Amino acid sequence: MAPSPRFPIHLCQPDYHKSCAACCGIYNFKDNSRRAVSLRLHRNRVLLGNEGRKVTPDALALHSQKWRSRYNGFAKRFEAVFNCEFVGFLDEAHRRVGCLLHPLRHKGKDLRHSSFYGQELCDGHFCPSYYELTMNEQALVVKTLDDWYLYGLVITDIDLVKGVYQALSDRLGEAVQPRMLTHPPVQRALRRLWQWKLRWPYCRPGCDGFGKYLFIGDHYEELQIPYERWGVQPSFYHRILLALGSAFQSLEELRDAERIIDLGLHHAVQALRNASSQKSSNGTIP
Ligand code: SF4
Ligand code: SF4
Repeated sequence: MAPSPRFPIHLCQPDYHKSCAACCGIYNFKDNSRRAVSLRLHRNRVLLGNEGRKVTPDALALHSQKWRSRYNGFAKRFEAVFNCEFVGFLDEAHRRVGCLLHPLRHKGKDLRHSSFYGQELCDGHFCPSYYELTMNEQALVVKTLDDWYLYGLVITDIDLVKGVYQALSDRLGEAVQPRMLTHPPVQRALRRLWQWKLRWPYCRPGCDGFGKYLFIGDHYEELQIPYERWGVQPSFYHRILLALGSAFQSLEELRDAERIIDLGLHHAVQALRNASSQKSSNGTIP
């Protein structure tokens, strides 16, 4: 029997529809809107040339000279994370993001030695999502998202993925399996949950946070929800609420947020049940 690969799902480049480059710093800007991130990724791609075109050491040095300090100056969100100037869109259609210095783009020649981290660190890096998310949790994201911007935000948010996976499995009465996720209504329902990451009504305003973290200079703290002040137990959805960067002005707001989560989960579980019942009548999930 062939040994199983170390990481069966390649979270960085899972397929041709999307990919992630979060650890190269693409979201670590005060303005990390889709528009601003896309502009930077497009700019790097244009300046470094398209796939197959020869990139000279001088061109790389010039690019670094121009953009490294700008990407890592005032524009930066969290001090301790480096924003690489060599990350960009990998394809014309702007569906996949990643390293513009990778050997696959340069006929086998690895140019990552020109980067801040260097070839070895870039090549050997696997973020905590590879280790901490189970295969089923990884599949929950990979099989339901086709949008690089949202995919990178979600796949790196371990609390959100674990929180949603657990809540869905609890309601369903069984663990959500990857085979259940090929059904289009299930994918649509799951996508609506992930979109909370983009449009969460109780997200704390400001650009000094990211997910459950609040950045203060070069250190960070976790957000707090004042349950004690309101004399209530922590929310059943505490993990999800924090991952969405929630800040509540009152207990009513907290309860409203829980209702939104309840409803989203309800629709997703309905879709999962429908997929399962079709399976039992057809013998297979379409
Ligand atoms: S954050 Fe994780 S999944 Fe994303 S590119 Fe880095 S190692 Fe890959
Ligand atoms: S050089 Fe390293 S940090 Fe920069 S884009 Fe490539 S993999 Fe990311």
